[in-house]
Amino acid sequence: MPDPVTYSREGDIAVITVDSPPVNALSLSVRRGLAACFEQFAADAAAKAAVLICAGRTFIAGADITEFDKPIEEPWLPKVVHQIEDLAKPVVAAIHGTALGGGLETAMACHYRVAAPTAQVGLPEVSLGLLPGATGTQRLTRLAGVKAALDAMISGKPMPAKAALEKGVIDAIVEGDLKAGAIRYGSELVAAGKGPRKVRDIVVDPKSVPEGFFAEYRKSIARDTRGFFAPEQIVKCVEAAVSLPYLDAVARENELFMQCMRSTHSKAQRHLFFAERDVAKIADVPKDTPLREIKKVAVIGGGTMGGGIAMNFANAGIPVVLKEINQEALDRGLAIIRGNYEGPVKKGKLPQAAMDKCMSLISGTLDYEDVGDADLVIEAVFETMSIKKAVFTELDQVCKKGAILASNTSTLDIDEIAAFTKRPEDVIGLHFFAPANVMTLLEIVRGAKTAKDVIATSMACAKTIRKTGVLVRVCFGFVGNRMFFPYVREAQRMMLEGVPAERIDKVAFDWGMAMGPNGVSDLSGLDVLSKVNKEWKDKPDDPAYCRMIEVLVGKGRLGQKTGAGIYKYEGRNAVPDPEVAALAKSEAAALDVPQLDVSDEEIIERLFYAMVNEGALILDEGIAQRSSDIDVVYCHGYGMPRYRGGPMMYADTVGLDKVLAAIEKYRARYGDQYWTPAPLIVKLAKAGQSFAQWSAAKG
Ligand code: NAD
Repeated sequence: MPDPVTYSREGDIAVITVDSPPVNALSLSVRRGLAACFEQFAADAAAKAAVLICAGRTFIAGADITEFDKPIEEPWLPKVVHQIEDLAKPVVAAIHGTALGGGLETAMACHYRVAAPTAQVGLPEVSLGLLPGATGTQRLTRLAGVKAALDAMISGKPMPAKAALEKGVIDAIVEGDLKAGAIRYGSELVAAGKGPRKVRDIVVDPKSVPEGFFAEYRKSIARDTRGFFAPEQIVKCVEAAVSLPYLDAVARENELFMQCMRSTHSKAQRHLFFAERDVAKIADVPKDTPLREIKKVAVIGGGTMGGGIAMNFANAGIPVVLKEINQEALDRGLAIIRGNYEGPVKKGKLPQAAMDKCMSLISGTLDYEDVGDADLVIEAVFETMSIKKAVFTELDQVCKKGAILASNTSTLDIDEIAAFTKRPEDVIGLHFFAPANVMTLLEIVRGAKTAKDVIATSMACAKTIRKTGVLVRVCFGFVGNRMFFPYVREAQRMMLEGVPAERIDKVAFDWGMAMGPNGVSDLSGLDVLSKVNKEWKDKPDDPAYCRMIEVLVGKGRLGQKTGAGIYKYEGRNAVPDPEVAALAKSEAAALDVPQLDVSDEEIIERLFYAMVNEGALILDEGIAQRSSDIDVVYCHGYGMPRYRGGPMMYADTVGLDKVLAAIEKYRARYGDQYWTPAPLIVKLAKAGQSFAQWSAAKG
């Protein structure tokens, strides 16, 4: 392999070039190459200044995260950046593409920074549960100031070159050829007799930080960073930049970086980073599978889901026709779509012109003939098999050859739906999550006969509409909902056992869920859950199963939409309702359900291990390809926090032996019906293995 970092000289300017495709990540060989080339520069008497530049599409785009779980190999980045900064001759970083993480840290160790107009710089470590640990927290604070540095590191968002110039992160924008411009910049420094300029020497005046600033800042980010470990450590590093001498602050940064690195949070977030890339790999669908062209989309049903689904395609510039059963329903559907666009326009988040463009791409119809030329048709009508049958029979008649016929069903059998047509190979499940224009998950359900190019096109389509597509196979509820049912089942059972609904939700919320199971049930609609249970052929034969859902539906308490469900609603505020607790008590008495004293730990175990046990069955049955796919489903579609890494990763971090022991404990109390451990958990716990290891071995 050629050297990833090379040294050359143009006149009296040394040019150090990193060329390590695809993104010039700071692997061991790049760090070694940098150390060697800067040593050469120091020793080269003919070189008066140096330019650090990268080949390919970007400046150093970050660390090599595959090295994170391995022992550190010298030279470590903090050493390299100090080597650069301590040079006696000036170094200019020439940035194009994205200088992210360790890339920006390296650039900030250089004495000057110039960038192409399209370049971006940022410290996104927080998204992996880390902090910029190679002096980045200290340098960005010195260059950009306390507030701007905090905002950049807590959000992890990159800054465009112009903003970076305004904030003092870079010194100049170079139009035209970057290398030539950077060499010119270096020559001018030499001519002007300007030497190295160390960022570490900039003093952040503590008096420039208003009294109480950090306390206020912590409050301002509390909601968005709830539960995450790294953001607080970043704030501590910036405090250190203000209050400690540079080297002490760097030592603090290093110590906090190691704490982040060792945290289960970071492990979980890094796991998801890889998981989100792995979902695209499908064992039997090669990467080069030819795709079908999607130039026009039709959505059947403009209700809660159909409208949001249509918006996704319009947002991506693809024309959509929305088919409804009558004018009134169509008008209502289109009005909701319009309203969804108007909200962000009013808040200044979406230009009016963008809204107008999207609206112009959406048309309505009452006539099946108008969907005949669509390349992709997505059905989002009521969740009843007979209605799906009518729709698919019709679609089979009118749709052009080669059109993909998709259903947004949340539970129904895609193979049964496919059999209503004479082209089951063109039928697939595209399961969006509510609100469909917001949620990033798309569960893609392959039927027994779905063609490979239909699968590949659906996966590509997910990307086009900026969703994370996860491929699954057919079973009741697919991956997400099938695992959600045992979670709701336990929440329901605990209510009967006398645990207040709001306490269950608070424990789940404090564990990290965006919302507890009872709040979510009210949001989805208890009637919807009840209907699902009725459709479920293998529903547990147990009168206590999800009993409170039936009781509340019987009283017209359908959830948020009727102002009362498990909670009462004051506006959108859920308020605990003593009437529901009383109902639970009397139901429990009638069903002989004992009242229990349930600890917070037990609430977590019962909610999440019930879910994980189902996940293990799903893996064994091959419904999901790998455990990390399930994790992506839960973090993108069910409000599970990224720092847990998803349910299967959570179980792995707890240890499957412990998970199994807890499942056995509940089996002893409740019997086999709900708590028989999945054979895969038993097998892996015995072997001391994790779901991740099992998935990796399976390939
Ligand atoms: P909805 O009741 O809000 O909307 C269904 C719409 O379909 C109605 O507007 C109805 O007029 C229309 N419709 C019925 N038959 C039709 C036909 N033959 N031609 C055209 N339009 C017809 O329902 P929804 O919540 O949008 O659910 C739709 C589908 O999406 C269901 O299969 C559901 O399981 C699934 N789903 C729903 C959610 C959710 O949270 N609501 C989430 C994921 C998937």
